[in-house]
Amino acid sequence: MSSHHGHDHHDDLDPPRVEEVADKVFAYVQPDGTWWINNTGFIIGDEGVVAIDTCATERRTRRFLDNVTAITSEPLRVVVNTHHHGDHTHGNYLTHPAAIIGHDRCREEMIAGGIHTYEGIFGDPTPDWGDLELAPPMLTFSDHMHVHTGEMGIELHYIGGPAHTTNDIVAWLPEQRALFSGDLVFNGGTPFVLMGSVSGALTAIERLRTFDAEVIVPGHGPVCDLGVLDRLADYYRFVQEVAADAHRSGVAPLDAARETDLGDFAELTDAERIVGNLHRAIFEAGGGEPGARIDLAAAIGDMITFNGGRPLRCLA
Ligand SMILES: [Zn+2]
Repeated sequence: MSSHHGHDHHDDLDPPRVEEVADKVFAYVQPDGTWWINNTGFIIGDEGVVAIDTCATERRTRRFLDNVTAITSEPLRVVVNTHHHGDHTHGNYLTHPAAIIGHDRCREEMIAGGIHTYEGIFGDPTPDWGDLELAPPMLTFSDHMHVHTGEMGIELHYIGGPAHTTNDIVAWLPEQRALFSGDLVFNGGTPFVLMGSVSGALTAIERLRTFDAEVIVPGHGPVCDLGVLDRLADYYRFVQEVAADAHRSGVAPLDAARETDLGDFAELTDAERIVGNLHRAIFEAGGGEPGARIDLAAAIGDMITFNGGRPLRCLA
């Protein structure tokens, strides 16, 4: 396995793949979908290409954009950010001069947080991020917006909750019944709501069911369908039950996580997210408002402790 600049650190991962999930609607799926390794997508129409999200590193985003130009000579005109997290937005600057669209709070969070790579938290070695530049959405909205390219109609909807974050939107193609869910859906990975809400995530799942999607491009993991939502809801309800017990007996999130048998959920990748999820869920069990600010540094520190004091596995 080679590891040097300009190449993937992790040649043992399967390469990213382009999947045409409907006519001229593409998912770009990056294995293995763990921390910072997200999915993107793109839609080709007569007025150019609309991309859904960018990637965590300069190298990964350039590879994504190369895959787009290998398929179409249409220019990239619009980039939609499903939420503010760096694995979906770090590469925005490489799409210049495309217009970047996101929720109002996506722009706010990106400007407030800057380029955030959580030094010392992820990977050993640290991911090769590249020369990242902050490029938040220039066009923002609060509830919904429609994007058009030729015959292709793309609806953007704020899903609320808060759920994965305070600014989760989906891209919905009603004619193709294709839904780009962002991180409202993890397929195969542990869902993560430290920066959003557990109860809100359950509300968001019910909202996602109303789209009658035939195909879902999740934020992480393989392309899937609505069936994935039941498992997500089961996980969130499990977290809520553990949190309710912990709150009643005054057990801290880290201890609650250590004492919890994850059962079938242990098969999901990035299992240490249970700690962050419990920080959020115990806060809510105590009457905390969904999406309110909590001590993220404490929660992330506890995830590392849970992980044996080592940086979290990250192959970005
Ligand atoms: Zn995210």
